[in-house]
Amino acid sequence: MMKRKITTAGVIGSGIMGGGIAALLASTGIKTLLFDIVPSDLPDEKNGDTRARNRIVQAGFDAVLNAKPALLMLKKDAARIQIGNLEDDFSLLADCDWIVEVVVENLAVKQDLLKRIETVRRPGTIVSTNTSGIPLKKMSAELSEDFRRHFLGTHFFNPVRYMKLLEIIPGEDTLPEIVAFMAEFGEKRLGKGIVQAKDTPNFVGNRIGVQGIVRAMQLMEEDELTIPEVDTLCGPALGRPKTAFFKTADLVGLDTLVHVADNTFDLIPGDERRDTFKVPDFINAMVKKKLLGKKTQAGFYKKDLTPEWKTIRKVIDPQTLEYHEYEWPTFPCLDAAKKAKTLPDKIKSVVYADDRGGRYVWKVLSENLIYAANRIPEIADTIVEIDNAMKWGFNFELGPFETWDAIGVEKSVAKMKADGLMVPEPIIKMLAAGHKTFYKNETGRILFYDFAAVTYQPASVSAEAVSLNSLKSSGNVVKSCPSASLVDLGDDVFCVEFHTKMNAINGEIIDFMADGMDYIEQNGIGLVIGNQAGGMPGAFSAGGDLKFMGEMARAGKWNKMDAFLKKAQDGLQYAHYAPFPVIAAPFGLTLGGGCEICLGAADKLLAHAELYMGLVEIGVGLLPAGGGCLNLWKKMTENIPIPAKITDYAPFFLPTFMNIAMAKVSTSAADAHANGFLGPKDRIIFNRDYLIGEAKKEVIKMANDGYTPPVKQPIRVLGSAAQGMVNAELHNMKAAGFVSDHDALLAKRIAFVISGGNVRTNARIDENVILKLEREAFIDFWKEEKTIARIEHMLKTGKPLRN
Ligand code: NAD
Repeated sequence: MMKRKITTAGVIGSGIMGGGIAALLASTGIKTLLFDIVPSDLPDEKNGDTRARNRIVQAGFDAVLNAKPALLMLKKDAARIQIGNLEDDFSLLADCDWIVEVVVENLAVKQDLLKRIETVRRPGTIVSTNTSGIPLKKMSAELSEDFRRHFLGTHFFNPVRYMKLLEIIPGEDTLPEIVAFMAEFGEKRLGKGIVQAKDTPNFVGNRIGVQGIVRAMQLMEEDELTIPEVDTLCGPALGRPKTAFFKTADLVGLDTLVHVADNTFDLIPGDERRDTFKVPDFINAMVKKKLLGKKTQAGFYKKDLTPEWKTIRKVIDPQTLEYHEYEWPTFPCLDAAKKAKTLPDKIKSVVYADDRGGRYVWKVLSENLIYAANRIPEIADTIVEIDNAMKWGFNFELGPFETWDAIGVEKSVAKMKADGLMVPEPIIKMLAAGHKTFYKNETGRILFYDFAAVTYQPASVSAEAVSLNSLKSSGNVVKSCPSASLVDLGDDVFCVEFHTKMNAINGEIIDFMADGMDYIEQNGIGLVIGNQAGGMPGAFSAGGDLKFMGEMARAGKWNKMDAFLKKAQDGLQYAHYAPFPVIAAPFGLTLGGGCEICLGAADKLLAHAELYMGLVEIGVGLLPAGGGCLNLWKKMTENIPIPAKITDYAPFFLPTFMNIAMAKVSTSAADAHANGFLGPKDRIIFNRDYLIGEAKKEVIKMANDGYTPPVKQPIRVLGSAAQGMVNAELHNMKAAGFVSDHDALLAKRIAFVISGGNVRTNARIDENVILKLEREAFIDFWKEEKTIARIEHMLKTGKPLRN
C-alpha cells in the first residue's frame, strides 16, 4: 500500500477558522486550496467576473495576510494558498489528500457541502469537519461507506496558529488507521496537542470549559460578586490566564459563547447539570444589544476616553447594562496566594479560604471538578484527555484532575460531602482503595488513575516527547543549583536546564554551565541546552538579569563587570569549541543573553516553530556582550559558499548591524531563519514537546558520526569601511525619526564592535578582539545617563523606554 501523505489540502470556508487553518497548513509547507461561496448578491453583469465571484474568499485571504497576531509564520508562505470559489473551482478538490470543511455552523449547509465533496473526492481521501457542536453522525448519515470510513472531526481552536489543542473525533465508521494517521499528522506536522474526543455535544474542551464559565457567571449572581471580582479571583491564582472568565469571554465573543452554551443545553437533555449551561439573562440582553466583546469594542469590559483623551477601563453593570469605572478588587485569600511559593499552594490558599472570594472560588471549582469526573467515559475515556483539553484549549496551567490533586483529593472530597455535593462513584472507589491522587510518578513515567480499569495506567506519550520534569522527579538530576540543573537524558546525553524567572541568565547560571561542561567532558557524549518552561509562548530565556548587572554598575565595580562578561563569553566560546556536540533547543522568547547562548555555545539549533528570537539589548541602552555581536556576524558569514572569492562583505554587515541596532525579534522560527539567526544547519520543529527528545537524538547522531569541533580561525571583518556605511544609514534613520540621538550613539558603537574596531577593511582578526570590544562598549554604555533611564524604566514597567 502507498504511504499516506498530506501534500495538498483543501480548506472550505475562509472565515476566522478556515483562514487560520489554511495559514497553518501553508506555514508547514502544505499546498492549500482555500475556497468559499460565490456572493449571493452578485449583479448579472458581474456574473462572469472571477474577481467578483471570489470576493468572499479574497476577503478571507486578505484577513489572513493582515491578521494580528500573525497567522502565517512567514508572509511569503501565503504563496502556497490558492483561492477559489465553490462553483467554478470545486473539481480542483479532487487533487487533495485531505479536505476540511470549516463553513458556517449549520447542519443543512454542511450536509449539502459534504454530498458535493462526495462527487469529486478520490476514494481514500480524508475529509474532516471543524464543527464545534454538530454531531458527526448527523452530518455523514447519507454519505457512502468509503466516505464515512475516511471522515472525522478535526476541531481546531482559535487562533489556530497559537492554540495548541486539536480535538480529533472519530465518527462511528471512521477507520482506526485514519484516526491514528490524523492524530500523528496533527501532532508531528502541525505541532498540536491531540485530544481524542467522542462524538458528543461540543466535545471535550468546550463542554468542560463552557460549563465552568457559565456556572461561574450564575454563581456570581447568586453570591452577589462583581465582574472584576470574579476575574481577579479566577486568574493566575488558580494557574489560569489573567483574562479569567469574563475577559476571556470578551475575546471569544459573547455570541459564540452563548451559541455554544445554548447548543449544548439543547443537545444534553439527560445531563445532571444541564441547568449550568443556561447563561444569565443579562448576557442574553448584551448579545441582543450587540455588546459582543472585542469584536464590537464593548462587552463585559470596554475602553473609553475621558474628555482629556485619557483611556479609562470600564465594566458593565449587569443590572443596568451601563458601564462604569472600576478598580481591581483585593481579597485576603489572594494576598495569601501571592505569598505562596508553588501553584498548588496558591490554589489551596484560595479555595480553602473563608472569605467571600474563597467561598465563591470553592463553589466554582468543586462543581466543575465533579462535572468533569462525571463526563468519563461519556466524552472521553480518561482524565488525561480532559486535563489536556483544558491546558491546551484554555491555557490553564493545570487541568481539572491535576488541580484536584493540587488541592488534595481526600481533603476536598470531604469538603464536597460536607457541602452536600454528590461525589462521583469512581472517585469514592479510588479513595477507598487507598489511591490518594489522580496522577503519580513512577520511575520516570507518569501514571494516571484510570476509572475503567480501577487502577493506574501509564499515560501514553509519544516516544519523542521527553519530559524533563518526570526525569527530574525520578532521580535523573546530576547537579543542581537554584537557577539551573543538569539532567541525565540517558544514553550519555545531558541537558542543562535553566529555571529562573523567565529563565533569565545570571552569574549562577554562567558558573553552572562551566561545571556542566566539565562534567560532560568526563561523563557524556554531548550537551543539550533547553528547558520546558510552561505557558504560551513560553521563554527559553528572556535575557540577562539586569538587576544583577545593575548592582555592579551602581557600585562602580567596572572591573568586576568586565570579569563577569569575560567569564560568560569564555564559557560560551568554550562550549562552541568543546570536543563534544552542543545543541540548543530554543522556543518562545529567546532574547538577549538567551539568544547569545544559542548563537555562541551551540553547534546547531533545534528551534520550535514559535520562536521570538533577537538581540534586544539596545532597547535598554546596551549591546550584546556575551559574544552576541561576534557570533551573529560569524553566523551571517560562515555559510558564504567560497569565502575567498567574495571580496565584498558589506552585504552581510548591514543585516547583522540592523538586527542588533533595531533590536529585531523574529516573529517565528521561519522568520528567524530569514533574518539570519537560524542558519542552514539548524532545524525547525513544530511540536514543542519534541524539542528535548529531538535534540538528544541529534547529539547522538553527531557523536556517532564522529563529531569534530569547529576549528578556531581568524575572522574577516569589515573594519573602517563599516563606519561610513553606518553613518549614512543612521543619518537617514534619524531624519525619518526612527532613531533618537542616544540610539544613534549606541548604534555607531555597535557598528564599531561588529566591524572589528579600528582595523583596515577585510582584515582578519582574532575573535577575542571583538569580544573585548563588546565588553568595553557594554561598560561604557552603563555609564550613560540615558541608558540608566532605559534600564530603570524596563525594570519598573517591563517595557522599553525611547529616549
Ligand atoms: P465564520 O463565520 O468566520 O466563517 C464561516 C465561513 O462559512 C464564511 O467564510 C462564509 O462565507 C462561509 N459560508 C457561509 N455560508 C456558506 C454556505 N452556504 N456554504 C459554504 N460556506 C458558507 O465562522 P468560523 O468561526 O470560522 O466557524 C467555522 C466553523 O468552525 C464552524 O463550524 C464553527 O462552529 C467552527 N469553530 C469555530 C471556532 C471559533 O472560535 N470561531 C472554533 C472552533 C470551531
